[in-house]
Amino acid sequence: MAKPNKKGPLRTVDIYCARCKTKLFKYRKGGKGALVKCFKERIVEDHTLTPCMCPGCEQPFARETLIRGTPAFKMIGGKVLMK
Ligand SMILES: [Zn+2]
Repeated sequence: MAKPNKKGPLRTVDIYCARCKTKLFKYRKGGKGALVKCFKERIVEDHTLTPCMCPGCEQPFARETLIRGTPAFKMIGGKVLMK
């Protein structure tokens, strides 16, 4: 796995709450496959009011963590949708 570089990937995805479909983030996602984690520095738009909490249904959808020293959110399985 390559380390995330400074510019990051160009492709953006929209991340929604799986429960109430509220938009949570616009995110520059690297690679393919399911969204497991979000690096905070790659979040383009943040629609949350409280970190890791859906502003629509007030359910937690992620946990704050550090990945190789970089602040990130670890997504809780099944709580988010990616489009
Ligand atoms: Zn929600």
